[in-house]
Amino acid sequence: MRAIGPPDGAAQLAGEMVGVVRGVRLPDGTLGDVALEGGVVGVVPGEGAELDASGWRVLPAACEPHAHLDKALTAPRVDPGAGNDLVAAIEQWRAILPGIDTADVHARALAAVHRYVARGITTIRTHVDVAREGDPLRGVDALVALREQLRGRVTLQVCLLAGSEASDAAVAEAVARGIDVIGGCPHLAPDPHHEVTRMLDVAERTGLPVDLHADEQLDVTLPDERFDIVDLAEQVLARGLAQRVTASHCVRLGMLEPERLAPILDLVARAGLGVVTLPITNLYLQAREVTHAAPRGLAALRQILDAGIPLAAGADNLRDPFNPAGRADPFETTSLLMTAGFLTAEQALAAVTTGAREVLGLPQAGVAPGDVADLMLVPDTEAGDLLAGAEDARIVLHGGRVVADTRVHRAVDLPLLIAR
Ligand SMILES: [Zn+2]
Repeated sequence: MRAIGPPDGAAQLAGEMVGVVRGVRLPDGTLGDVALEGGVVGVVPGEGAELDASGWRVLPAACEPHAHLDKALTAPRVDPGAGNDLVAAIEQWRAILPGIDTADVHARALAAVHRYVARGITTIRTHVDVAREGDPLRGVDALVALREQLRGRVTLQVCLLAGSEASDAAVAEAVARGIDVIGGCPHLAPDPHHEVTRMLDVAERTGLPVDLHADEQLDVTLPDERFDIVDLAEQVLARGLAQRVTASHCVRLGMLEPERLAPILDLVARAGLGVVTLPITNLYLQAREVTHAAPRGLAALRQILDAGIPLAAGADNLRDPFNPAGRADPFETTSLLMTAGFLTAEQALAAVTTGAREVLGLPQAGVAPGDVADLMLVPDTEAGDLLAGAEDARIVLHGGRVVADTRVHRAVDLPLLIAR
């Protein structure tokens, strides 16, 4: 048996297949072993290293349910000044997009994936724009190629973000080129209902799952039936769609009084939709025009959970015109869910792990036999420190293989810490 070593030791495990992790702190708080076999948790050790994990805790690996890898890390190319709202961010992005080619998207997306994986994320659903100028599908091509290149190390799902100006022919061609999920942004279209209908027509024809940018605005003066999520839920029920359907953002829901919100959430639950909340980006983009007492750009998270609707949380944009900040860290998201979204620690952790996998229609990861062996080892400290993002050391497994190993050396000119 080999010791994993301490959180401030040498990172040495990337690329290793692991057969069993022994003496690790399990999610239920006890110490135990986790046997890994053929990419899933088994009952006996499989092929690979036998690791002594004293001093480490195991969690399900995280899942980023909503990224934009085609836009990631473009912040140095723009000047957001005092900050962008959604419309200003879209304008900045459209101004630089003509100069972005397939190789550029691929290189930045891979750099972003390095960050996500190092911080414990083994599955990423990325949206991808249909460009107005030049080859409309160069982003799709770059990310579909990256998905294939990374297979076995990280799971990428490519979701088309077809704006209303994307032609039906371009959407059909994106399906042919291998996207995993169909999506659009009806709230930005001249006729949102037409866009919801157009995307669900494609979903019905192809069987692809759906993930729409929905209600990413705080204006609630429109009638309920014109909310994207209401239209989406009604059409899913009417069509009897069996595939997973997701509404991302939904910040309008956070602006509704309880009596108006309740029947909408009841409808969403009956339609079986999942909701994705994206705190860091929507806190950045929303309510910029408000002079004081600004609302939070978040969906009604506690009410969504109370209604039994699956909830996933992610970061959305990563250092681009839509969000100049971000660490690609699920624990940055959990921290915001607790402070700005008022979720409990358990609810916040579920939203970036089990809840995110449920919304994306993936089998669960964890430590029970049969679970997918996508795991994250973190220092065995108080759980609140982890969710606050205070711990940097992480060992990340995808299908039983170590895909990232981060240890942290730090020298501090202060009195030594006293073990308690
Ligand atoms: Zn988005």
